[in-house]
Amino acid sequence: MKRNNVTILGAGLCGSLLSIIFARRGIKVTLLERRPDPRLAGAVGGRSINLVMSSRGIRAVKHAGVFEQIEPLLVAMKGRLIHSLDGDTELQHYGQKDSEVIYSVSRSALNCILIDQADAEPNVTIRFEQEAVSYYPEESTVRMRDHIKACDYDLDATPLIAADGAGSLVRRAYQESDAITASEELLPHSYKELAIPGGSNGAFQLDPGALHIWPRGGFMLIALPNPGGDFTLTLFLASEGETSFAALDEDQKVNDFFNENFADAVPLIDDLIGTWNRNPVGLLGTVRCDHWHDDDKLLLIGDAAHAVVPFHGQGMNLAFEDCVVLDQVLDNPDADWQTVFEVYEKEQLANANAIADMALENYIEMRDTVLSPEYLLRKELSFILERRLPDRLIPRYSMIMFHDEIPYAVAQERGNLQQKILEELTQGIDCIDEIDIEVAVEEVRNRLPPVH
Ligand SMILES: Cc1cc2nc3c(=O)[nH]c(=O)nc-3n(C[C@H](O)[C@H](O)[C@H](O)COP(=O)(O)OP(=O)(O)OC[C@H]3O[C@@H](n4cnc5c(N)ncnc54)[C@H](O)[C@@H]3O)c2cc1C
Repeated sequence: MKRNNVTILGAGLCGSLLSIIFARRGIKVTLLERRPDPRLAGAVGGRSINLVMSSRGIRAVKHAGVFEQIEPLLVAMKGRLIHSLDGDTELQHYGQKDSEVIYSVSRSALNCILIDQADAEPNVTIRFEQEAVSYYPEESTVRMRDHIKACDYDLDATPLIAADGAGSLVRRAYQESDAITASEELLPHSYKELAIPGGSNGAFQLDPGALHIWPRGGFMLIALPNPGGDFTLTLFLASEGETSFAALDEDQKVNDFFNENFADAVPLIDDLIGTWNRNPVGLLGTVRCDHWHDDDKLLLIGDAAHAVVPFHGQGMNLAFEDCVVLDQVLDNPDADWQTVFEVYEKEQLANANAIADMALENYIEMRDTVLSPEYLLRKELSFILERRLPDRLIPRYSMIMFHDEIPYAVAQERGNLQQKILEELTQGIDCIDEIDIEVAVEEVRNRLPPVH
């Protein structure tokens, strides 16, 4: 079956990884990106500077053969370090094995390495400063703007793989043609990034082995370590209302808000007011589509197909998983592009919808539930049960972050049932010693089939 050439729009995280995977399969890739080459231009500040990478992302970069290049960028985090209002801290481990850690990684460094690796492939041609300005689904034509030559041209791109991010121009044009139904659901909360610089001699000013959270009920501040000794802080807060970004419209209000809610972080933050005023407020949302492909002509992938809110740290991990699943479908030499797109979509659509839901739920867990004794009791019990029945009860967080062999949709379904069982077993109970573990084990054995 002829699958010789492909055009990928967007050299972000997904488009550049996919180019490497396709090229190594012998498929010729033209990769078009509207930005200047980030390896020369440098990172754009203030927009999700670092990301959580977990087992699905690691698996994908290994699959593409680029883990060795990426490994030095990774900073391991073993748990959440909760900062209470009174300044107390408490580490909540993510998993219970040494290998059950997640990683902080710089978005721009990761993107540059992926672009470098794609560029080194003879089958990949990368063209920067090429922006898609219109897409005509009927003719499968993209109107491109060449910012270097300052001219527009039409590109007949079949198949076109649109990896042009959450605000995908291609998805929106395709949607206008009524061929797909897509929803873009904006979260009423937004984010802003700040920084904690490295201390003297580049030493970390907070524990670098954890993701720090200041959960405050309706909002939260988080900090992720960077390899240079600094931390990126992200404040997630309502966009409008009494306690919101809109309400923090004067320097004094910002100072008061931070002193009131994050007093232990304030002395560490670099130029709070200056950074606050310089960095934009970023929007967050969920994109869902009823399907992602148009015959053999077009496939939406990564955030263009399914942006999710960042509270499970899975948008990029999902986009990377997309690349692996698509590549696995290509293993069938008889499948033409249309079949490949159909099979891929069938496999991955339910997974994207599942993690979109779970990411929204995790916002409430991170900013609020992590402080509740009931949550901590259920977590303790789930770890005990996982040790006793590791093939039946795996905490939902662990299924998502550490078990890339478990599809997101299965993690969601099993997670719901587990939650119900754990709630029943801990009802009216204050302390783990009050639970008859043998009864709990039997209950799990009876109600949860083994994970396949
Ligand atoms: C605050 C925040 C925190 C996040 N944290 C995490 C995390 O911890 N872990 C995680 O896994 N995910 C996280 N994500 C999600 C993650 O950033 C995305 O899922 C990921 O970037 C998706 O990759 P992508 O390649 O599909 O899209 P993008 O990375 O957005 O790349 C799209 C590319 O297409 C280009 N492009 C766009 N339009 C055009 C056009 N018209 N013509 C040509 N090129 C175009 C863009 O310039 C860009 O290079 C976070 C997101 C945010 C906002």
